This record gives sequence, C-alpha cells and structure tokens, in this order.
Amino acid sequence: MASPLIRCFSKIGRQVSRPWSVCQHGLRNRSTQPDMSAEQAAALGVTYPPLQTYSEEEGMMRDAVKKFAQERLAPFVSKMDENSLMDPEVIKSLFEQGLMGIEIDPEYGGTGSTFFSSILVIEELAKVDASVAVLCDIQNTLINTLFTKLGTAAQKERYLSRLSTDMVGSFCLSEAESGSDAFSLKTRADKHGDYYIINGSKMWISNAEQAGVFLVMANVDPSAGHRGITCFIVDRDAEGLQIGKKENKLGLRASSTCPLNLDNIKVPGKNVLGQIGHGYKYAIGMLNEGRIGIAAQMLGLAQGCFDQAVPYTRQRVQFGKRIFDFQAMQHQIAHVATQIEAARLLTYNAARLKEAGRPFIKEACMAKYFTSEVATLTTSKCIEWMGGVGFTKDYPVEKYYRDCKIGTIYEGTTNIQLSTMAKFIDKEYDH
Ligand SMILES: Cc1cc2nc3c(=O)[nH]c(=O)nc-3n(C[C@H](O)[C@H](O)[C@H](O)COP(=O)(O)OP(=O)(O)OC[C@H]3O[C@@H](n4cnc5c(N)ncnc54)[C@H](O)[C@@H]3O)c2cc1C
Repeated sequence: MASPLIRCFSKIGRQVSRPWSVCQHGLRNRSTQPDMSAEQAAALGVTYPPLQTYSEEEGMMRDAVKKFAQERLAPFVSKMDENSLMDPEVIKSLFEQGLMGIEIDPEYGGTGSTFFSSILVIEELAKVDASVAVLCDIQNTLINTLFTKLGTAAQKERYLSRLSTDMVGSFCLSEAESGSDAFSLKTRADKHGDYYIINGSKMWISNAEQAGVFLVMANVDPSAGHRGITCFIVDRDAEGLQIGKKENKLGLRASSTCPLNLDNIKVPGKNVLGQIGHGYKYAIGMLNEGRIGIAAQMLGLAQGCFDQAVPYTRQRVQFGKRIFDFQAMQHQIAHVATQIEAARLLTYNAARLKEAGRPFIKEACMAKYFTSEVATLTTSKCIEWMGGVGFTKDYPVEKYYRDCKIGTIYEGTTNIQLSTMAKFIDKEYDH
C-alpha cells in the first residue's frame, strides 16, 4: 500500500501526484524564516549552508507533517490527554502517512527517507502533541533501526513490513531495579536446544498498550555480566507475556507506559536479534541515536508552546497596552526565542553529524540535555506570560508544561547525559 508520503517522496516517482498542496516549493520559505533548500543554497553559491537548510525531500516532509499535525492530530489532543488514551484513528493515520516507517526501505513498505527527516517529523508532531511524537520517535529511531541494522532477511520481511504499515513496536530495557544502571538488568533467557525461555519483568515500557512486537533485553549468561545481554524479539501473543496496568502519569498521558511480566516465555532461537551477548552494545547505540529524537521532541514541544503563548501576549491588553509591548515581557520572550533557536541548532547539528557518519555521541547528549532544559524554561514562562488563563485547561500551555518533564528522565536522565559529556570532555584533554 503506497501511503501519501511515500508517493510524495518516492525517489523513483518524483513527478507523481502530491496529495497535499504543501508538498510544493514556495510555501516552504517565508522571508522571515532562515530556512533554505539545499538547491537554493547551491544556486546562491553557498558552499557551507546554514544548519537550517533542508533537502527538497526534507522540506516537503516537514511541511507535509506540519499540515498533517494541524489537521489530523490537533483535534484529538486534548481528549487523548484527558482520557490517557491514544486514539486508534491517530495511530492509523500515522501509518497511512508513512510516518511510522520513515527510514524503512520501500521494499518493506517504508517511506525510504532519512534520519534527519525523522527528526523533522518528530519535531513537527511534538509541536502539537508530545505523546504522538514519542510514539513515532521510538518506532523510527529505536525499533525500525534495530530491525534494519540487525535483522536477518526473514526477520526484516516479517517485521519491517508490518512496522511500516500497521504494527507498533516497544523497546524493553528498563526494570524496576535497573534504570540509569540499565545493564544490571535481571531478566534471564535460558537456552534449551533451539529456543530460549525468558523470565523476568520490565518497567516503563512506552507504547506497550498498542505494541505488536517487543524488543526485550535479557541476559543469557549473568556470569558474563553485561556481555550476556541479548536482544529478543517477543510477539505480543507470546504465551506468558503479560502487559500490566499503565502508569498514571503527570504528562505524556496519551502515551501508554506499562510494566511487562515475562513468565516462562518460549522464544525460538531465530528470534534473537543480532548476536548473542551484544544486546548492551545495541541498546547503547540505539539510545545514542534515540537521544537526538528526544531532543527533537523537546524542541518541537518548546516551539509549539511558544507559538501558543506569543499570539496571546500580542492580543491581551493591560494598562492600555498589549502585554507584548512591555519591555520586561519583550526581553523574556526574546530570551526564550534565543534558547529555542540554540536548541534547534544543537539538535540539527547532532542529527547531521550522525547522518554524516561522524562522531555524534557527545553532541547528542548535549542536544537532549539542552532541549529538555529549554522546554522546561519555555513552558514555565509561557504559563507566566498568559497569567491566570495559562494555568487553566482552557489553553494548551499547561499540557506542554506537564509533558516537558519527561525530557530530563527517559533515554538517560540529565545527570547521565552530563556524565557522558564529561567523559568525552575529559578524553579531549588527554595528551
Ligand atoms: C514515561 C516513561 C517512558 C519510558 N519509556 C521507556 C521505554 O520505552 N523503554 C525502556 O526501557 N525504559 C523506558 N523508560 C525508563 C527510563 O529510561 C528510566 O526511567 C530512566 O532511565 C531513569 O531510570 P529510573 O527511573 O530508574 O531512575 P534512577 O536511575 O533511579 O535515577 C533517579 C535519579 O538518580 C540519578 N542518578 C542515577 N544514577 C546516577 C549516576 N550514576 N550519577 C548521577 N546521578 C544518577 C538520576 O539522574 C535521577 O535523577 C521510561 C520512563 C518513563 C518515565
């Protein structure tokens, strides 16, 4: 099934019809925006274009998703938050638009686009709803990438074709007693002939309510420590898999977060993803990339909140003036806008480094750390700028404020990001 975005971006079919009018030049570059397509940059003879330069495909993707988020997602956001439930229509439309298999090869029904496009998609979705952004983020930056990089031909055929069209995946590393210290996990996988028996439990598993497949990190040889950790593909209908009651959370309420119980689950040897004992490497590698996705989520969230609050300050009148016109307000707004811009540059730079095959781990940590801080500052300030109404559910800023807190916690807490950065900095000064 060809989705609209696949038709939009298919490398073979550049001339085919584009479903959305925004999939055209012109609308992309308003004069006030620093954005530029790679083609425009080349035409101007710019050899080193600014970071906010997009390929034609990236620009179209971003604009198309912006429109999609406004039209197909925004109407559901408040209800989904209130009910703590992702609307199945939203998930269906993400698949229909090709947003759940952005980098998956079209051979498997994917959109065949790039990591940077995934980052732009996550940013645009998070402007409207961070819960939907994290669903898309985990699917694209963790699950699909693991299958693409490590899967056998049979595993790719079976799972990538579903992950791009109708199946959500979950990444299962954390346990009740192993969070930041993830590789002290206790879940065991014991080999019996050509299958494994998995026992243990997982905590905080995003998207578990909807997932059809779980990538479970379990230790096949605890005496080898973290070198026993192996990645297993566990289907939702596996006997012995229980998905617990979802957490009642402060924010990201539409995103399901559940514990899992793994009770004598029989998994065939062919469901090992990658090599035995390499699970810890895969988890580290994926989370390094995934952090750029979380940075994009926090960046989009901050921008989305700012976009809600600033127009209010331009309309609200006190002391006979727009509140935007008070210098004290202007300075705060300009300060926050600068922080968001810096967050965007850190995020895009980390994504471009990763895509270029250059070292990016320190930069990914910086991006995740900084964007989380900026999202916290922005959402807090936006509530203040709106006064009493900002504190109510009549406006969406209070939701952004609740949703942003997770940025400092998952895929490595802020302390863990800072410690990783410090390790790199320390090495840089070795002589
Ligand atoms: C909404 C949500 C969704 C999640 N989704 C997933 C998922 O899909 N899959 C998955 O596997 N996990 C998921 N997680 C788990 C998440 O990655 C962990 O919560 C996170 O790694 C932190 O672990 P912890 O909660 O056990 O906190 P802890 O590790 O107990 O940390 C508590 C505090 O101690 C600090 N700390 C710990 N160790 C150090 C140290 N060495 N130096 C300095 N400070 C330290 C931390 O920074 C933090 O401030 C999710 C969590 C949440 C809340």
